[in-house]
Amino acid sequence: MNKIIVAIDGYSSCGKSTIAKQLAQYAGYTYVDTGAMYRAVALAVMRGLVQLPSLAGLDQIAVGFRNNHVTLNGEDVEAEIRTLEVGNMASRVSPIAEVRHFLVAQQQQMGRNKGIVMDGRDIGTVVFPDAELKLFLTASPEVRARRRYDELVAKGENPVYEDVLRDVNDRDYRDTHRAESPLKQAEDAIVVDNSNLTREEQMQHIYRLFDRCAERLKTAARKD
Ligand code: C5P
Repeated sequence: MNKIIVAIDGYSSCGKSTIAKQLAQYAGYTYVDTGAMYRAVALAVMRGLVQLPSLAGLDQIAVGFRNNHVTLNGEDVEAEIRTLEVGNMASRVSPIAEVRHFLVAQQQQMGRNKGIVMDGRDIGTVVFPDAELKLFLTASPEVRARRRYDELVAKGENPVYEDVLRDVNDRDYRDTHRAESPLKQAEDAIVVDNSNLTREEQMQHIYRLFDRCAERLKTAARKD
């Protein structure tokens, strides 16, 4: 069967990564978390490897993946990039055109043989505008803040819910209002609002969408 590209976009803390990872497993595809790549660049800035605003050093760093963990210059930084501070820095570096071009080129390269599930903010609009299946995930800011809060507590951090909610709203604003590749729904994306769905209901729905898309393409290929 011909493999496809699945592009998953949506707001932060919508459960995009979990969904994309599970769908990739279901389909036997490679999963790519592009948010982790922006976070790795943010970490490089925080470590002084890349200077702002000149971006000196950007072409010297290597961002990649090993066993689904993001790497910076070969070092596994998966745990380190998951803090609020790195998340905030990521949404500051992600509007910069040079940073986006640097990462988008690598993302397009990763999808050249299809068979990929990629999640982010601009996957269906900029990285793979011709992706065969595009999903746009959404949930209310309060639901997302609660999930993010629970995640941080589980990691041993001591967050304040109001701070997390403000952070979610600020990040939404920055993601949707930046000049370079703002978060927006592709015209041909299927919207999945998971505010009131259990994880299981949501995954069943998404597996059905994937199967239907793959089936439609198979039928179309047979007709050609
Ligand atoms: O999804 P995650 O919260 O890990 O992403 C971190 C930041 O990276 C986001 O706030 C967003 O600004 C940025 N990002 C982006 N484009 C993507 C993925 C993430 O601008 N494709």
